[in-house]
Amino acid sequence: MIDFAALHAAYERDGVYALQLEVNDACNQGCVYCYMNALPEPEQALGDEEIISVLDDASALGVTAIEWLGGEPLDRIGVFEVMEYARGLGLRNNVWTGGLPLIHGQVAEATARLCAEGLISVHLSTLDSELYESMHPGRTADDMAAILLGVERLIESGYPADQILNSMTLTGFQTAEDAIATIETFEARYGIRTSLNVYHTYLRPDTPPGKLVRFIPSEEAVRSAHRRCERQWGGRMPMNCVDKRYCSATVAVLNDGTVTPCATIREGACTVRDEGGLAGCLERHTEELLLLALKRGDVCLEECRSCGLSEDCWGCRSRAYACGAGLWGPDPRCYRRRRAS
Ligand code: SF4
Ligand code: SF4
Repeated sequence: MIDFAALHAAYERDGVYALQLEVNDACNQGCVYCYMNALPEPEQALGDEEIISVLDDASALGVTAIEWLGGEPLDRIGVFEVMEYARGLGLRNNVWTGGLPLIHGQVAEATARLCAEGLISVHLSTLDSELYESMHPGRTADDMAAILLGVERLIESGYPADQILNSMTLTGFQTAEDAIATIETFEARYGIRTSLNVYHTYLRPDTPPGKLVRFIPSEEAVRSAHRRCERQWGGRMPMNCVDKRYCSATVAVLNDGTVTPCATIREGACTVRDEGGLAGCLERHTEELLLLALKRGDVCLEECRSCGLSEDCWGCRSRAYACGAGLWGPDPRCYRRRRAS
């Protein structure tokens, strides 16, 4: 699923392993906690030509994987053509879908075919109907059933369960017990592991930060869910998505062309629309985009010195940024940090 040899090589050469490509901002799933405030109707999208140009640059830069993001990437008209183009360049396709479009057999089939070397991630943060509806105002628990049906379609088509993830956002809405029940159901029913994303978007357009506090999960819930995932993934897990190498060797192109170190960081210093494309942005802004100050150790996180995981982890840069501690600040959701400091 992840080519760790390629990831480590990209990290060592200050290169890029994964490009997160946010092709639109529209999504019907209505997650109340959505980090990018996706809308039912599209307002922003990268054009086909822009996507092709970004893919060409990514290929020339030695990128291994394209992480297709939205909104809902599978609802973007023409997405399969550009995924096909990426595959033709030798890039792996990883799709991060809410899951609703997979109920359509043709969409499931095309996604499975184009992601044969990569992964498909669906998004269900709970399997509790009442909770699902409270986390998706205006939607019903029928969506939950539809997403599961889409997952079953993928598996029935022969797509390997170990290349499917459930992307769970842990928020202040779920209890640790609910999160663990969801993780265990995906594992027991389908053999699918969970990618745990601890809620961290304290900044959202038009929403005062104070109103977002309720979304933040408790330290105890984070610890419990994280520990259950560690059993599933077989070892101590950093607070970073994969590890700090992935975090550094990933860049994002947002749906308005802005280039940032990660799609969950919504502000960036450059855009593919006016800085010579992706290659130009990377040339001018390597330091910030690849988090080089952290890699070199120019910026030290005191809290991480004695935790025993700092070889693999420096905490999520996006959570630090979103809570106002800046790109180099401590990860506010790290439950190990207090003991380490
Ligand atoms: S900034 Fe956070 S969400 Fe983004 S890759 Fe790094 S650890 Fe993952
Ligand atoms: S203390 Fe630092 S290195 Fe340790 S788990 Fe937390 S963020 Fe990662």
